[in-house]
Amino acid sequence: MTASTTIIANIAAIQARIAAAQQYSASLTPHLTLMAVSKTRSAEDIAAALKAGIEHIGENYLQEAVAKQAELQDKNICWHFIGPIQSNKTRTVAEHFSWVHSVDRAKILSRLNEQRPPALGPLNICLQVNINNEPSKAGASIADIPALAELALSLPQLRLRGLMAIPANTDDPAQQRRNFAAVRKLLNSLRQHFPAAQLDTLSMGMSGDMEAAIAEGATILRIGSDIFGPRASPAPE
Ligand SMILES: *Cc1c(COP(=O)(O)O)cnc(C)c1O
Repeated sequence: MTASTTIIANIAAIQARIAAAQQYSASLTPHLTLMAVSKTRSAEDIAAALKAGIEHIGENYLQEAVAKQAELQDKNICWHFIGPIQSNKTRTVAEHFSWVHSVDRAKILSRLNEQRPPALGPLNICLQVNINNEPSKAGASIADIPALAELALSLPQLRLRGLMAIPANTDDPAQQRRNFAAVRKLLNSLRQHFPAAQLDTLSMGMSGDMEAAIAEGATILRIGSDIFGPRASPAPE
């Protein structure tokens, strides 16, 4: 098989896994978006995913993402930034993406708001929460999320949509579910604090834990290796 037919077959397999997982939780996740995470992958690989019906593409590295965006500018793609954000790179993020999932501090929110070109409309934001309090991991603490949400909701060029999490790595499905349940509960508490906000997004679930994420109400799955194959370099945290 060529790489392209493999990618298309992998996406069909993921869609079957999603359908199977949703049998038990379709009421939790009526609108589930499958995002293909294409870090380290070529524009050609992304084009194959588009042929299989993917519309949402997630990228972690800014320079790499912008180069692929130029190659794919004639395609209809909703681009999501999901990687670490340095404050001197916020302008490029604000100008090149529809969504940012990896915001974990106030300074980044303020800069994205200032630098978002108004003609593009508000930038969709997920706050990244470090749900297991891992010292090595990006993401705000649970305690810091309400104040960040309040700030995000006050900024006119941003549209706060919800939370993103990369829980502690575990193969235990019960532990995976507990971690994702904690993210869901945090989003529910934000909804109670900010009833006027449209907090509709739980960005959670990767290749190794998507079933658990669906069971706990994920609305955006971020799938890389099970679509494009294993990566040469390890996934950054
Ligand atoms: C790489 C990455 C993914 C995809 O991970 P896979 O295990 O390859 O599916 C999802 N989210 C983030 C933030 C990533 O960096």
